Amino acid sequence: MAAEQTTAIVIRAIEFSETSLVVTLLTREFGQVAALAKGARRPKSSFEGALDLLAVCRVVLIRKSSDALDLLTEAKLQRRFRGAEKSLERLYAGYYIAEMLRLLTDNHDPHPGLYDLTLDALGQIDGSGNTALALLGFDTAALRLLGHAPSTRQCVDCGQVVRGARRVAFAPIAGGVVCETCRSRQHSILNVHAATIEHLERLLAPHTRIPVQVPSAVYREMRGLVSRYIQAILGLKPRMQSFLPARMEPVE
Ligand SMILES: [Zn+2]
Repeated sequence: MAAEQTTAIVIRAIEFSETSLVVTLLTREFGQVAALAKGARRPKSSFEGALDLLAVCRVVLIRKSSDALDLLTEAKLQRRFRGAEKSLERLYAGYYIAEMLRLLTDNHDPHPGLYDLTLDALGQIDGSGNTALALLGFDTAALRLLGHAPSTRQCVDCGQVVRGARRVAFAPIAGGVVCETCRSRQHSILNVHAATIEHLERLLAPHTRIPVQVPSAVYREMRGLVSRYIQAILGLKPRMQSFLPARMEPVE
């Protein structure tokens, strides 16, 4: 049981006893990790401030082999999440990111790209970036990095290229666009503007960086489509999805 070092983002902290916390971390090297932080609730603990939600810290973990919790022996704060000091919209955006990371990643399944993406998104959200666009960029890039990118060109049923129409049918459960011939076989369809799918395809491209750019007229439909698609992938609606910005223009 060797001690290992990594950087981590705190995505949940639950009181465990009078003096301890159980924290869920997204680590860069080991993926999601649940760890016991003994003494973290004591005043002047050595973890001070490092285990707040969405804090980024340098940690030392003692990994346990079985299903037992890992042991967090050190956490040094590198960056505090300051969304709460800015606006409710920015605070909720942070909560949304934490929930999405818990839902989308598994224990001990590392995705360094997703970790780096999260740092970029948090930097926009608790800085002066556009929250709505930061979250849309986070969602689409996370889907791509985790191998869940929807099909934006070929019909998910027959494989033919879908083109030509002003409106396009998107089937969240089937995983992307469907052609005119196949759409009647789908259970739930979103009928969206072709421009929404074009911009979605651009956001899903590997070189796309946060902050992404999307026309204001496209944002609302794209946000709805991405949220419904995420529900289909997860088989549930993330709790914080209801708090996502409905409009692109910031509410401060
Ligand atoms: Zn088809």
